[in-house]
Amino acid sequence: MKTLELGTTPSLGEVPDTMKAFVIRADREGEPKDAMRVEDMPIPDVGPNEVLVLVMAAGVNFNGIWAARGKPVSTMKMHPDEPFHIAGSDAAGIVWKVGSAIRRWKVGEEVVLHCNQSCRECPECNGGDPLACEQQKIWGYETNWGSFAQFCKVQGQQLLPRPKHLTWEESASYGLTLFTAYRMLMAQAQVKPGDNVLVWGASGGLGVFAIQLCKLAGARPIAVVSGDDKARLVQELGAEMIINRNEFDLSKGPAESRRFGKKIRELTGGEDPDIVFEHVGQYTFPTSVLVAKRFGKIVICGATSGYELTFDVRYLWMRQKRIIGSHFANTHQAEIANRMMIEKKIRPVLDQVFEFEDTPRAHQLMADNKHKGKMSIRVQTPRP
Ligand code: NAP
Repeated sequence: MKTLELGTTPSLGEVPDTMKAFVIRADREGEPKDAMRVEDMPIPDVGPNEVLVLVMAAGVNFNGIWAARGKPVSTMKMHPDEPFHIAGSDAAGIVWKVGSAIRRWKVGEEVVLHCNQSCRECPECNGGDPLACEQQKIWGYETNWGSFAQFCKVQGQQLLPRPKHLTWEESASYGLTLFTAYRMLMAQAQVKPGDNVLVWGASGGLGVFAIQLCKLAGARPIAVVSGDDKARLVQELGAEMIINRNEFDLSKGPAESRRFGKKIRELTGGEDPDIVFEHVGQYTFPTSVLVAKRFGKIVICGATSGYELTFDVRYLWMRQKRIIGSHFANTHQAEIANRMMIEKKIRPVLDQVFEFEDTPRAHQLMADNKHKGKMSIRVQTPRP
């Protein structure tokens, strides 16, 4: 049996039998530092429309934390035939083996991956939006064989060209959050020049790209952060209006939310947000609905602080606001946003790089909100 040891690379296209992977199992679901452990795992074979990618670097995302915790849903229930989970929905790597139906990509090409999988056969996948496909899943969260391993297995349509001006670590860092922020702002909320956009968690994974996309679209981001170093980061990205959320206790109710709204108006010159970029959920959502402008939009893709939301619906109907759900991005949107990265219109915001063995620690930092921007893991990329 041929085992691929860390720090070694097989010759191009040669597939060993086993690889090192960080694995979550049902009996150790919990905080990432306990749930994710290195194991020798078999290297999966590819189907006709699939591709095996040698992972040079992998990007850390919040869904690795949900997968580790097994809450609100255990990933084991999502792929019951494989009662283990290799997380990781972002990677940059080298095409190592292609399925018999793959025509666009060849062994040896350098790629980044987007994380949407769908059936590729239904009407939604052919002329509609693959996010509406009944079999739509997020690779590395709802499916197995994610990127915290020496090899990962993806559908051919997930491959995108790697921006050659970036390092492997930078290339692996941006896909999931950039493509999600792109769909939220450009497709779902249809941001326009001049719009005021309230961006919660502006120095986080989604936020750093929301700020850059707003600037590119000619909109005016209002960046919410929780500290001075995070404020400096969003300033570097072009945010001029910044709010430190520690100056408010939004759990106190509507009076405090109104005070937050007053702060927004002080910064904008009296205007309320046309768009609220939401992913925090329970803690911020009542404020988001209250502060949005009349006829404004609240676009939401996540709920870090809790998914059961309560809010005063009178602000929604009397002022005719809209709540818009959004989830990742389709291949076309991912391709456009990736091109923005290739053309240097958007930049990666890689704050920290970790070695493979530190994968659980990197996730734990994110779980504890002790990070900013994006974090990457070196897998096959040589240590400096
Ligand atoms: P992240 O890097 O952790 O950034 C989130 C930011 O939110 C943090 O930097 C933090 O900034 C802020 N935050 C955390 N708790 C908060 C609270 N109680 N109140 C206000 N702000 C708070 O994570 P991310 O990658 O941006 O992802 C954020 C969420 O979106 C996660 O739940 C993730 O699962 C979800 N998501 C969903 C999709 C999708 O396709 N549906 C895609 C990407 C992410 P400050 O402390 O500076 O305020």
